[in-house]
Amino acid sequence: MRTLQISQTLKFVDHFTERVSDVRKYTRITSFMVVCFISLPVFVLLFKNSKIHLFETPVDSSTKSLEENAQNISSELLEGISQDVTPFLVGEYNNSSKPTNTSSIPINDQQKLVDELVASGFDKESCISRYQYSSYHKNKPYKPSPYLITKLRSYEELHAQCGPQSSSYRRSIHKLSRSHYMNDSETTSCKYLVWTPANGLGNRMVSMASAFLYSLLQNRVFLVEFEAEMDDLFCEPFPNSTWLLPKNFPHKNHWSQLPSFKNRVNSGEGKFIPSFFHLDLQHGHGDDNLRHFHCTKILSSLEKIPVLILLSDQYFVPSLFISSFKEELNRMFPEKDAVFHHLGHYLFNPSNEAWGLITRFYQAYLAKADEKIGLQIRVFDHQQVPSQNIMSQILACTQNYNILPSFDDTKKSLYSPLRNSTSKSKAVLVASLYPEYAEGLRSMYWTRPTMNGDMVGVYQPSHEELQKFGDNVHNMKAWAEIYLLSLCDVLVTSPQSTFGYVAQSLGGLKPWIMVGLGRKEFQDSPCKQGFSMEPCFHIPPQYDCEGKNKINNFTNLYAHLNTCEDVWWGVKLVEMHELN
Ligand code: GDP
Repeated sequence: MRTLQISQTLKFVDHFTERVSDVRKYTRITSFMVVCFISLPVFVLLFKNSKIHLFETPVDSSTKSLEENAQNISSELLEGISQDVTPFLVGEYNNSSKPTNTSSIPINDQQKLVDELVASGFDKESCISRYQYSSYHKNKPYKPSPYLITKLRSYEELHAQCGPQSSSYRRSIHKLSRSHYMNDSETTSCKYLVWTPANGLGNRMVSMASAFLYSLLQNRVFLVEFEAEMDDLFCEPFPNSTWLLPKNFPHKNHWSQLPSFKNRVNSGEGKFIPSFFHLDLQHGHGDDNLRHFHCTKILSSLEKIPVLILLSDQYFVPSLFISSFKEELNRMFPEKDAVFHHLGHYLFNPSNEAWGLITRFYQAYLAKADEKIGLQIRVFDHQQVPSQNIMSQILACTQNYNILPSFDDTKKSLYSPLRNSTSKSKAVLVASLYPEYAEGLRSMYWTRPTMNGDMVGVYQPSHEELQKFGDNVHNMKAWAEIYLLSLCDVLVTSPQSTFGYVAQSLGGLKPWIMVGLGRKEFQDSPCKQGFSMEPCFHIPPQYDCEGKNKINNFTNLYAHLNTCEDVWWGVKLVEMHELN
C-alpha cells in the first residue's frame, strides 16, 4: 500500500516535471545556445596551450600487441589531423612552466642569459634559473663558440617545426605508425631521437647530453621520455615547443620489441628501413653497440631510420669525436673539454622548484664563505669499504693539498684561535647518501683548532641512505645537490661517479679525485687533480670497425682523447693531449 502511494506520488512528480520542462525547454535551449556561443571560443583558447589531454586515448600496454597499438595510434592520428585539434598529441608538459612559490623572486632584467647559449623568447617566470644563472656562476671562463650557437638556433627552429604540437609531427608520426618498414624514398622529412632513461640521475644526464649532441648532428628532433620520477627537474630547453615525449607516442612501453641490432628482421635485402629502431647503448647489454658506435657503417645505417629509440646511461660523446662527425664537432667545440659544460648548461636549467632548493641552501650556508668546497662521497660498495678508511682518505686528500686546513694539536690555540688577516672562512658542502662523513668532519673542525686560523663549516643537504628509483623528491634532491656542487670553488669527487662528473662539468671545475675510494692501497696518494672537466666514457671503442682487431689505445686516434684519471679503461676529451 505504502509502495503504491509512493509510486503514484513519483508518477505525479514525473508528470509535473515533464510539463514544467516542456515550458522551460525552449527557454533553456535558447540560453544554452547563448552560453555556448560565448564560452566555446574561450574554451578553445584556454585548452590550446593547456596541459590537459583533451582527446588522449590511453593505450592498454599490457594487453595489446605492437601492431594493435600502432593501428590504434594511427587512427587516432588520422582523426587528429582531420580535426586539427592542437593538443591532440601533446604529452604532459613540463611542470616547470607553471609558476611556483619562487616566482615571487624579483627577476632582474639586466641579468644575462646563460651566455648566448639559451634562446630568447622564453617566459621568464617559467624558468627563473635561466635568468639568475650568472649571479651564481661567476667568472665562468668557457664561452660557447658562435658556430655552436648557430647550430642551436637552427636546431630550435627544427624542433618547433617538427616537434610535438606541430602539424609536421602529426603527419610524420601518423605515417610512420602505419608501417613497420618503409622504402628509403618514402621516409619522412622529420626524424626523431627518443631518449629513454636508465640508471641514476648522473647517468641519465650524461647520456641525454650525448643523445642530444647526436640529434644535433643528425638533424633529429630530440624527445625525452620522463616518467613522473623526473617530472619538473629541468626547464623546457627549446622555445615554443616541448621536449617531452607525448604519452601516446607509437610503441611506447614496447620499445624492446622494435627492430634492433639484436632483433634484426629480414627487411627485403636492405631495400626497406625500419620506421622505428631500438638503439641499445646501455652499459651491460649494449656494450657491443657502444664499442662500434663510431663506425661509419653503423652511423650511416642509423642515419636513414626515421625514429631512433635510444636506451643509454653512458657519455658516448668521445665516440662521436672519432667518427665521421669529427670535423663538424671540432668547429662546434674549439675547447674540447667544455662539451658537456655547454650542452649541460643549455639542456639542464633547474626548474623553479629545484632552483628554490638550490638557492635557499646556497644563500643560507655557502654564500658568505670566502671559499666553497664541494665534497662528493659516492660509495659503490658501501658494505665492503670501512667508512673509517674513507674518512682518512678525505682528510689526507683535503689537508695534503691545502683544500682544508690541518689541525693544530699543540693545544696552544685551543682557547684563542689563531685568526689573522689571511685566515679564511670555508664552507664545505658534502653530498653523500650517508651522514657519517659530514658529521665526522663537522665534529673534527668544531673540536680541534686549525693551524692557520681558517674556520670551517660543514653542511650536508640530505642523506638518503639508498639510491631510490621512481621517486621524484629523491631525484629533486639529487639534482639540487649536483647543482650546488657545481657552484663550489673547489671540488673533491669520488671515482667513477657520473653524479660527480655532471657537477664538475657544469661548474667548469677540474676536480680532485679520490681514486680507489677507501681502499688501503691508495692511502699514500689519496687524490689527484683531474686534467679535464669532461665526463669519462666508461665503455669506449675497443675494436677497429671490422671488429676483428683489438685496438689497445684508442686515445692515439684523436689528439684530444686521453685515458680517464679515475677509470683506466675509460676515455675522455681533454683540451691538451696529455700522455699518462
Ligand atoms: P653514479 O651512480 O655515481 O654514477 O651516479 P648516478 O647519479 O647515476 O646514480 C646515483 C644515484 O644515487 C643518484 O642519482 C641519486 O639518486 C643517488 N645518490 C648518490 N649519491 C647521492 C648524493 O650525494 N646525494 C643525493 N641526494 N643522492 C645521491
